[in-house]
Amino acid sequence: MTWWKCSNCGYVFEAEKPPERCPNCGEACTFYDVTCYTPECGCQGYDPKLVARRPDEESKF
Ligand SMILES: [Zn+2]
Repeated sequence: MTWWKCSNCGYVFEAEKPPERCPNCGEACTFYDVTCYTPECGCQGYDPKLVARRPDEESKF
């Protein structure tokens, strides 16, 4: 399963694929993959660093 973050409302949820519409705000948003892929991290979920990253920062990369 993958963790997604809604670009519109910041809602974080687990799903196999990003849905067409956000389950929280109901908008057709962009969803960011915020899954933590670091095995030694041990969090078994989303990466707080990725969740904290704002969509406007994303465009700088
Ligand atoms: Zn949303």
